[in-house]
Amino acid sequence: MTPTPATPTPANPAPVTRIDDLPVRDELRGQSPYGAPQLDVPVRLNTNENPHPLPEPLVARIAERVAEAARNLNRYPDRDAVELRTRLAEYLTRTGGHAVTREQVWAANGSNEVLQQLLQAFGGPGRTALGFEPSYSMHALISRGTGTGWIPGPRNDDFTIDTEAAKAAIAEHRPDVVFVCSPNNPTGTAVDAGTVLALHDAAQAVKPTMVVVDEAYVEFSHRPSLLPLIEGRPHLVVSRTMSKAFGAAGLRLGYLAADPAVVDAVQLVRLPYHLSAVTQATALACLEHTDTLLGYVDRLKAERDRLVEALRAEGAEVVDSDANFVQFGRFEDTHAVWQALLDRGVLVRDNGVPGWLRVTAGTSAENDAFLDAVRTVLKAAAPAADAAARSSEPSA
Ligand SMILES: *Cc1c(COP(=O)(O)O)cnc(C)c1O
Repeated sequence: MTPTPATPTPANPAPVTRIDDLPVRDELRGQSPYGAPQLDVPVRLNTNENPHPLPEPLVARIAERVAEAARNLNRYPDRDAVELRTRLAEYLTRTGGHAVTREQVWAANGSNEVLQQLLQAFGGPGRTALGFEPSYSMHALISRGTGTGWIPGPRNDDFTIDTEAAKAAIAEHRPDVVFVCSPNNPTGTAVDAGTVLALHDAAQAVKPTMVVVDEAYVEFSHRPSLLPLIEGRPHLVVSRTMSKAFGAAGLRLGYLAADPAVVDAVQLVRLPYHLSAVTQATALACLEHTDTLLGYVDRLKAERDRLVEALRAEGAEVVDSDANFVQFGRFEDTHAVWQALLDRGVLVRDNGVPGWLRVTAGTSAENDAFLDAVRTVLKAAAPAADAAARSSEPSA
């Protein structure tokens, strides 16, 4: 029999239970959660948020639609979010270069939940997912969370995808799911349609494989969306979000476009009524103001380009960016540069890519503050000859 534990006293505190003391699944032992620091500093350029608050007319419209929804909160929401999916399909049709219907669109609480549902349906124990690293760390984390084995695939030194090396990795590992992030987080690198098609076809030649194109940042890209690739390819999925270009990270709304059969498949694993009536009402209000919201995108693209030029003018190496952020380096001691910028009130992201940091394009005042800080810090830190530097965070 276990003795009754003594009542804790200040001198004799109760023992601290750690995760590994619990019967958690083996693959979760010793792991760290997703953890971009949320620090209260003047200039926060570390999580690729849109720096512009929603315009007041939209805030008023959200209040109106949420009030309407509130009158029915005694009822469960529309389980299939039909109106919202219809509006999202219209948005994609108008901007994505390809007509899609609401049967081809699915929505969830952030694209992270969309990705989780895809992995619950197409990954899981005994199956694997492959992504080309460095890339969005949540692809690996959600894989782990769903019991899907994770396979890090290769990238070139300039962070583009080497099609031949990628095809070889697919042939070797026979993944069930392949992630292609375009534009890629954290490097900003866009992937062209030819590369995605080559990977898709190479994967299908091995076995039926779902190819998930994560287009979280596509509205900021110089290149068109890869949405048209879903046509006639039931194994190809495009995932999107309202967290970045729409400036609604707090809303938690992500969506996918794919063959209607994919939408049927994710419905097998989604929780009933997963998307609250309040979320659906808010997202619908935002979609009524699409043009205003996307107006900010052009400004942010210009700011992004300004950051690239200014950083290069300071002698930094900068990866070409198709997103609302810029990866810059290279530093001998990446963490020291990250800390020195933070000491000057500017929070950027250390994604654990040796030698590199990532900065989100903010307002022009925020970007000025960042560039001022960089000028001071870069003078102190010589660029690394090679990128064998240590880094503070384990993942992108
Ligand atoms: C930010 C981001 C997302 C968005 O996630 P949400 O859950 O929709 O906020 C998805 N993919 C990538 C690559 C991202 O960087």
